[in-house]
Amino acid sequence: MTTINDNHIYEVGIVGAGPAGASCAYYLAKFGIEVALFEKKKFPRKKVCGDAITVRAQDHLKRMGVLQEILKEKKGNWAALGGIVSPSGIEYYGDSSNEVKGQHLVIAIKREIMDEKIVRAATNAGAKLFENISVSNVNFSVSEKCWLVKTENIKKSFKVRMLVIADGAASKLARSLGYVDGPPEATCSSVYIEAGTHTFEQDGVCYYPSKLVPGYCALFKEADGDLVYCCYIIPGGECDKGDLVKMHHSLIKDDPFISKAIGPNAKIEKMKAAPIRFGGIPQSYDNNLLIVGDAAGQIDPLTGEGIQYAMDAAEYAANTITKANKKGNYSKRLLKGYQRKWMKSFGRDFKWSQRMVKVCTRYPIFLDAFASASNRKGDKFMTVWGKIMTGSKSKLNFFLPKLAFPLVVEIIRLKLKKK
Ligand SMILES: Cc1cc2nc3c(=O)[nH]c(=O)nc-3n(C[C@H](O)[C@H](O)[C@H](O)COP(=O)(O)OP(=O)(O)OC[C@H]3O[C@@H](n4cnc5c(N)ncnc54)[C@H](O)[C@@H]3O)c2cc1C
Repeated sequence: MTTINDNHIYEVGIVGAGPAGASCAYYLAKFGIEVALFEKKKFPRKKVCGDAITVRAQDHLKRMGVLQEILKEKKGNWAALGGIVSPSGIEYYGDSSNEVKGQHLVIAIKREIMDEKIVRAATNAGAKLFENISVSNVNFSVSEKCWLVKTENIKKSFKVRMLVIADGAASKLARSLGYVDGPPEATCSSVYIEAGTHTFEQDGVCYYPSKLVPGYCALFKEADGDLVYCCYIIPGGECDKGDLVKMHHSLIKDDPFISKAIGPNAKIEKMKAAPIRFGGIPQSYDNNLLIVGDAAGQIDPLTGEGIQYAMDAAEYAANTITKANKKGNYSKRLLKGYQRKWMKSFGRDFKWSQRMVKVCTRYPIFLDAFASASNRKGDKFMTVWGKIMTGSKSKLNFFLPKLAFPLVVEIIRLKLKKK
């Protein structure tokens, strides 16, 4: 057991060094704020994920110098070739290279690699990292005007004036303080499939088997040739969270498109899964406290993607804390600006995602129409869809005539074909 003699009061303490916590530490350190980052694991550490890093996250990685490093080391694979397979089996595969002007909508990066690099960027900027330290609980001491951060595996508590909770979807801390209610809504599995054993020819494909809708499966190719396969279960459709193990295995084996894409000799590792808390919590701030990333439910309900929102929110949190620091207090009134900022930036859009989840559940033909329209209209149409799905454009765009009209025409066409 380590003993740390640390009576010092840190200005900011962050619990959890995933993309949310580590990015927040990076931005705070860049702004010259003293920050301690507590992480229960030791880096590099694995994280169950689909490894699809979308544009907004890429922008943060670029600003940290992390993306450049990853590209130099050839540890990221841009998703240029890819597509969708709809519930009734309409396939579209294209190449978005000409549409995206140099910045692909997704780059696949193993989390073990990316998360460590973000943490190193934070420590290089001046954040103090405490690895292998699991925070067991936090209490605000009114007399000392700071949080006491208690840990499971060392004898001493830490003291921090401003606390940022970034401990992921299960968020033991935010739940214990009463800011997060109940267990996460959704769940997702993930496995790596060994390079050289599969026959996948694309960079990334989303599969919508009818039983799984509004959830989906995804395959992405990594820079080392491994594949990552995910099966995402969203409540509201035929499947619920309890069906994950069954669906994960049956789709990889029996779905005609997924099994064909992977091939008969694929070496697949043991299934892992993790919860997904989506939609955003109503209050992610209080006196001397902010909640960031999955802990605050900052995941898009339609796609299950959260890395970019975690990083956006981390920057908003760092800005808000820095402003409050300059004013000399971390009152709820000053910190409320953080909630307003992330709600405006992406939180409100989650409501449109939830509407889209309902549309896809009730009318899976919508997804058929999209695949069919892409076949007719090509990569440009696919890329517009991709930009909306990956959060570069608002989900509201699905409901605007530019996209909705061709989809309605396609639905009528498909219905007439069926008759
Ligand atoms: C199967 C799956 C696939 C996904 N695929 C994608 C994808 O392809 N693209 C995408 O954008 N998003 C994806 N997501 C979502 C994405 O993983 C999260 O949105 C992202 O990891 C959020 O970052 P975070 O920092 O909030 O949480 P996390 O990455 O979970 O980090 C939390 C950190 O806190 C640490 N911690 C927890 N408790 C404590 C404690 N008590 N004391 C100290 N440390 C603690 C953990 O060890 C961890 O390092 C996926 C999620 C799942 C489950």
